[in-house]
Amino acid sequence: MTPIACHECDLLLMPLELSAARSQAYCPRCGARLYGCHHDRLEKILALTVAALTLLVTAISFPIVGLDIQGHYAETTVLDAAQALWREERGLLAGLVLLTTVLMPLFELGAVLWLVLPLWRGWRPWGFARVFRLLRLAQPWAMVEVFVLGVLVSLVKLSHLADVLPGPAMACFGGLMALLAALSVLIDPPALWQAWDAARPLPFAGGALRRFRKARA
Ligand SMILES: [Zn+2]
Repeated sequence: MTPIACHECDLLLMPLELSAARSQAYCPRCGARLYGCHHDRLEKILALTVAALTLLVTAISFPIVGLDIQGHYAETTVLDAAQALWREERGLLAGLVLLTTVLMPLFELGAVLWLVLPLWRGWRPWGFARVFRLLRLAQPWAMVEVFVLGVLVSLVKLSHLADVLPGPAMACFGGLMALLAALSVLIDPPALWQAWDAARPLPFAGGALRRFRKARA
């Protein structure tokens, strides 16, 4: 059996000594919390992910900002902004805006749902390790906070040229930024692996894999 190291004082502990109750464990030397009840954590992750997905879809569908220049009113969404950049032959910038504010957050939230929803119901998700690795690779590319900061700076700079009205998407991106930060704290690899350990394999996963191998052979 592989020992677990306390993340605070590096004391090595055998999992058997810790997981008698399987709900929480504290380091006997320094008192640091080694893990807590994973079911509570999974519920919190799920609630935050559904809320974040709702905010992301709303943020994509509604205008980020409206400009009133001498009676002419114009407003734009993130997708319109990326399209405008594309038309102005700034394809790389358009791609980066789409990737960091829409595609990567969508992928991140989808991957979290894929991993956590079955675990919460007591099943092991298909391709857990692979999807988890992809999620950890994608996380640094979801940069909603950089986008929000960029929009705020441009709003201040534009405010003396035109009447600038922040749109509903701006508030949604603000909320999304906070939820993604909270999710990155809650998604703790040891806790998810512990939940995976306690879960059962999906009933059809083994059969599907055998059929796939048979078809390839
Ligand atoms: Zn310790």
